[in-house]
Amino acid sequence: MATAILLAQQGLDVVVLDRDEAAPDDPEEAWESWQRRSVGQFRLVHYVQPGGRALMEQHLPTVFTAMEAVGAIRYNSAEAQACLLPDGAGKDLDLSRFETMTTCRRPLIEYAYASAARKTPGVEVRYGCAAAGLVTGTEVIPGVPHITGVRTESGETIDTRVIVDAAGRRSPLSGMIEAAGGRQSPEHAFESGFVYNTQYYRGASLPEPRDDLLCAIGSISVLTIPGDHGWWSVTLYHSPKDKLMRNVRDPKIFERVVRALPNHAHWADGAPQGDSFSMASTANTTREFVVDGVPCATGVVPVGDAWGFTNPSIGRGITLGLMHAVDIAPAIAEHMEDPRQLAAEWERRTDERAARWHASTVNFDRIRAPEVEAHLHGLPDPFDPSDPSVAGPRAFTSASHYDPEVLQWFFEVLGCLSLPEEVMAREGVFQRVLDVALSTPPYSSPGPTRAELEGLLV
Ligand SMILES: Cc1cc2nc3c(=O)[nH]c(=O)nc-3n(C[C@H](O)[C@H](O)[C@H](O)COP(=O)(O)OP(=O)(O)OC[C@H]3O[C@@H](n4cnc5c(N)ncnc54)[C@H](O)[C@@H]3O)c2cc1C
Repeated sequence: MATAILLAQQGLDVVVLDRDEAAPDDPEEAWESWQRRSVGQFRLVHYVQPGGRALMEQHLPTVFTAMEAVGAIRYNSAEAQACLLPDGAGKDLDLSRFETMTTCRRPLIEYAYASAARKTPGVEVRYGCAAAGLVTGTEVIPGVPHITGVRTESGETIDTRVIVDAAGRRSPLSGMIEAAGGRQSPEHAFESGFVYNTQYYRGASLPEPRDDLLCAIGSISVLTIPGDHGWWSVTLYHSPKDKLMRNVRDPKIFERVVRALPNHAHWADGAPQGDSFSMASTANTTREFVVDGVPCATGVVPVGDAWGFTNPSIGRGITLGLMHAVDIAPAIAEHMEDPRQLAAEWERRTDERAARWHASTVNFDRIRAPEVEAHLHGLPDPFDPSDPSVAGPRAFTSASHYDPEVLQWFFEVLGCLSLPEEVMAREGVFQRVLDVALSTPPYSSPGPTRAELEGLLV
């Protein structure tokens, strides 16, 4: 939807095919009854990073307005963490760039995008209409299929000047290109991931933050995300190998675990809303669409999860997809008549931003996933603590709890505003992080030991 609106803003006519049904007329109905069978994570908690908010505000103002209209809230987790800095050191900081516009209830976020698309001249959305195959025309690059249209499941053919594949993490594009005589996109996957268990709550006011939005506590992580109209969510996530943690699907056990977390117990004080939702997501994948300078097909480009998706442990998929859409849409408008150039531009722009953010996001899991396994099995730290690739991120995270400057740099990275290497390259940053980390105890969120947790889970 974001790409469609961006393309229409460039003066193009866009037809969006969505296999699923249209959004209901009302946001609350979207939450209650909208069926999105193609989006497995539809009911799981979602958070829009400040970087995503900034892109939305700048490039998709109608979506931003629609988000406000559904009740999405302005929330600033940097401000919340700054209040917890020792000695009131977080007072008087300007942290406005870390504000986001979000709600934990994804159906409302999707509703906002859909209603903005509906009002955008040049965008036509056909719901319940699945793309089933590609139509090819005269090749532009010998041996590479050139796509000139799409066949729908009902047998209709739609002629296109260019196709944007935004079909999400299970996109069928690669198979369709192969069926059209091209080569499949090579996939690069880093297997790591977690099982997410989300319980929604409602109350008169949002719980006050007493710790980070996302806390690593031994073998589990806890994610507390605010929402619209007094809704919020608590998510406990864990290794797929952690069989005992599967018991948190029982609401009584879920609550017992949350209550055992001193800084989070009060997030269970609201009225639970329905059952909890669980989902595993264990891969971080990119699809190499241009291989050694040759695209798998011309006349088509992938965007968002269809190109690359991350295990959502730090909630970045929407923001990374927006970055990609914002970068690729102008390339489409500019190079639509030159498919070879469009493929080259797609690759250049993807490498320049989306690929770097994807790799950086995967780096979080490269450290956290082995830590979780070690806690689960009672093993020592799986890393050499003096390895700079591990010690650096650990020091950065810990120091952000003690020092107002480090906090701001940390939130730039966490909130998808600057890449870690960009922040660390600034004069004095590395030294300051090191000085703070070495002069303070390593920060950790309080919670039960593994043995105590296991006692809570049975
Ligand atoms: C458990 C979980 C939690 C997450 N939490 C967060 C979070 O907190 N913050 C965050 O930013 N991201 C989060 N993500 C990631 C986020 O959900 C995705 O990155 C995002 O939805 C990708 O958007 P997309 O538009 O690329 O794809 P999708 O949202 O998957 O949309 C794909 C669309 O393609 C349509 N489609 C598919 N096949 C066809 C077809 N053949 N024909 C026509 N239409 C088709 C579908 O109907 C759908 O509309 C989470 C993911 C998971 C799994």
